[in-house]
Amino acid sequence: MNVLVLNCGSSTLKFQLITTDLEQIADNTDRRLARGTIDRIGGEAIVLLEAAGRAPERTTAPLRDTRAAVELIIRWACAENSGIDTITSVADIHAVGHRVVHGGERFTHSVVISDEVLRGIEDCIELAPLHNPTNIKGIQAAREVFGGGLPQVAVFDTAFHQTLPEHAYLYALPYQLYRRHRVRRYGFHGTSHRYVAYRFRQLRNIPREQTNVITLHLGNGCSIAAIRAGDSVDTSMGLTPLEGLVMGTRSGDIDPAIVDFIAAKEGLTSREVETLLNKQSGLLGISGLTNDMRELLAEAHEHNDRRARLAIEVFCYRARKYIGAYMAVVNGTDAIVFTGGIGENSAEIRAKICAGLEWMGIEVDTDRNDRYQPGTDGLITKDDSRVAVYVIPTDEELLIARDTVRCVRGAPQRF
Ligand code: AMP
Repeated sequence: MNVLVLNCGSSTLKFQLITTDLEQIADNTDRRLARGTIDRIGGEAIVLLEAAGRAPERTTAPLRDTRAAVELIIRWACAENSGIDTITSVADIHAVGHRVVHGGERFTHSVVISDEVLRGIEDCIELAPLHNPTNIKGIQAAREVFGGGLPQVAVFDTAFHQTLPEHAYLYALPYQLYRRHRVRRYGFHGTSHRYVAYRFRQLRNIPREQTNVITLHLGNGCSIAAIRAGDSVDTSMGLTPLEGLVMGTRSGDIDPAIVDFIAAKEGLTSREVETLLNKQSGLLGISGLTNDMRELLAEAHEHNDRRARLAIEVFCYRARKYIGAYMAVVNGTDAIVFTGGIGENSAEIRAKICAGLEWMGIEVDTDRNDRYQPGTDGLITKDDSRVAVYVIPTDEELLIARDTVRCVRGAPQRF
């Protein structure tokens, strides 16, 4: 099946075209046909399109809305000179898979989108007011472009973490708040954690039930998950993606009393403080320079910038602290997996996070860590390290395409 994978943001649309089916999933022979990003939808959009094996094409186009962006993708993919020979008309696209941020407690798996499912996703808007509406726009745009007959599947960021036990997802707040408003830990990046845990299992050739691993997704957003017997049993993001690790612009864990304190001292509303915690904190907030880890590392090395070094230190310390906590949660783990832009690309950050954890059986091999090639699956610990540390590139789009096929074919998703 040719699956169009869509990830709709407020003014951005990311897509991939992937050929996959149950046999291809089984023997890992899915094929990526194309990928691209459309930015600044609503005005003169910046369009980046890339067919597999070809140089990326950059253009601009006036695009009114998400529907116009989807139409542009289809026109490009079907054109003779696109470089995608297996797609010549709309009929060659067999299903659409959507990334949906919040599935609440209702969606524990990916699902074919019916009117009822769409209403369910709408019901989750209050939990993700910024993300779910734009995801819904993507679903509606695809319906308009392809018609109601084409299967569309929703793959939720929260679904993988729905196996968290009650004691891990419940906050110690008055229980009515959970009952009335579903205030609890949901966790995000579930597709990424699930994908790398699955890859890890394949690399080690172990069954799901024996998969005990701690996965760290370190990108612009960062989260960590404890996976026991293949299931997520704890994760650092909470009701929203603000909790947990230090991120590019998000604070991660703070004392909740800080919100009121800052509001009073700085004359801000609680909404403004929330924005400050989401957009002006994290690496950017501490360094005062940037949210980009690559730039921070360059500042630290080239100018020995104190605040850049401090931001890196706080980032790594928080991650190390969570690894310790999740070791206790998993009851000892076989492995740790790094993924995401920082996790996959920075040997220095991986080494800093794992430093001093030898007593836990984590012995990074400096040479292996430094020589790891991004884009590959790599082991970065010594052969006799009790806990193995891997770097595995995440591929959320591939998992979305595969789930889309599984849903359409009625195959189980818990595999
Ligand atoms: P993502 O959100 O997964 O795309 O990750 C984005 C983050 O990865 C940004 O903070 C980048 O600075 C960081 N990143 C990408 N390449 C590198 C690198 N070579 N070294 C350090 N950080 C990197």
